[in-house]
Amino acid sequence: MIAMPRCCSVIAVLCLVCFLAAVSANALDVGAAGCDITPDVTGHKVPMAGYGARKGQPSAGVHDPLHAKVLFFREGKMSMALVTCDLRSVTPQLKQQALQKTIDLGLTPDTLFLCGSHTHDGPSIFPEKFWQLQFGECDPAVIDAMSSAIAAGLHAAAKNLAPARVGFGSERLDGFTRNRRWHYDNEARKTAGETAALNPILSVLRVDGDDGKCRALLVHFATHPTLLGASNMLISAEWPGVLQQALELAFPGAVALYCNGAEGDQSPDGAKGEDEFARVKQYGTRLAQRAQSVAQSIVTKPNQPIGIVRIMPDLPPIGFSPGARNGPYKSYEPFAREALPKKAEIQVLRIGDTALAGLPGEPICEVGMDTQRQVAVAGFRNVLTIGLANDYLGYIVNEKEYPHGGYEVDERSYYGPELGSMLASKAGEAARKLSGSAR
Ligand SMILES: [Zn+2]
Repeated sequence: MIAMPRCCSVIAVLCLVCFLAAVSANALDVGAAGCDITPDVTGHKVPMAGYGARKGQPSAGVHDPLHAKVLFFREGKMSMALVTCDLRSVTPQLKQQALQKTIDLGLTPDTLFLCGSHTHDGPSIFPEKFWQLQFGECDPAVIDAMSSAIAAGLHAAAKNLAPARVGFGSERLDGFTRNRRWHYDNEARKTAGETAALNPILSVLRVDGDDGKCRALLVHFATHPTLLGASNMLISAEWPGVLQQALELAFPGAVALYCNGAEGDQSPDGAKGEDEFARVKQYGTRLAQRAQSVAQSIVTKPNQPIGIVRIMPDLPPIGFSPGARNGPYKSYEPFAREALPKKAEIQVLRIGDTALAGLPGEPICEVGMDTQRQVAVAGFRNVLTIGLANDYLGYIVNEKEYPHGGYEVDERSYYGPELGSMLASKAGEAARKLSGSAR
């Protein structure tokens, strides 16, 4: 055996230290991409999801394109992806198809997070009769084309994986959202001393390259994209589309993504313009300006940990409010029982000290805050509740709001008054698993 000279062993140790430092400095890689998911409305009948009043009528054209945006994360052997879509909501079918077309990327239902912006001017992509009765039936070819586009976006993002820095910032925006349930049962609310819940916080997750150049901005703001009404028959990404486009112009080369929050009782406020599309443009542009200023103030850091956990707890038995039993959806009840999920898909994703908690429906503001609190307890500094994630099981209200009735309860709540508290608590459970503090 040849003895190594002392100076060589010191050099070897130094090389090993340098190698390990290099590995850990490049521990987090991120890729970003966007893809066009606009349905072909000339080749297919494309009914629009969002307003039941459209009665399944096909779209008359495209006002502006719909996109899916992808963030692909890799840290060592672990990969995960976040896909935001300009859609009313996403479906397990869309997620499954996207996964089938990206088997080579090693993603699974547990590591792919899919969410919708809640634009009310995208296609109805539900495979179940219960939803088709309300929004119309889409040609499966349209859904297939959409999942192919998302798969292409995932491949593109995986191809441009590169060492990344991430950071988080937020700002309070007054005058952009209002609680739309604040007209049901107001006398009872006043007697009970209740106040209208609002969460007017705009948050931005910024991803930079190693050189500090912005590569992606994920914007979170909770409110409905309902500035266009039921009479609009043109496909549109609504104000989230304007927001993303304006940010991509302000940060050339960066991908802008938008995810909605606990928007169940939040509607946009303060939009101005002579018609609906003018108001969409004005509102989205103003949001983009505020998001830009938040993004510019964010300090990004390299080497941030990532992780993702998905749980599928049993849902409470399907149940309808007394108002629903007398309402217009009564005849749909057998279809609802057949179509609605029996398990809730809850996914919590960690990027640095920020956790994104995805709930499969439309949580009202208080449920979102409850979720945020329970996830924060697991050790995350910044928590965003994301609505319309992975699946759709209607509005997610709590015990306090349920007795007040109204549209969200009587027409779109299917699991009784305790659903919100249950899902918030389950999101906390998932977050504890993610942070490793589960006992
Ligand atoms: Zn909604």
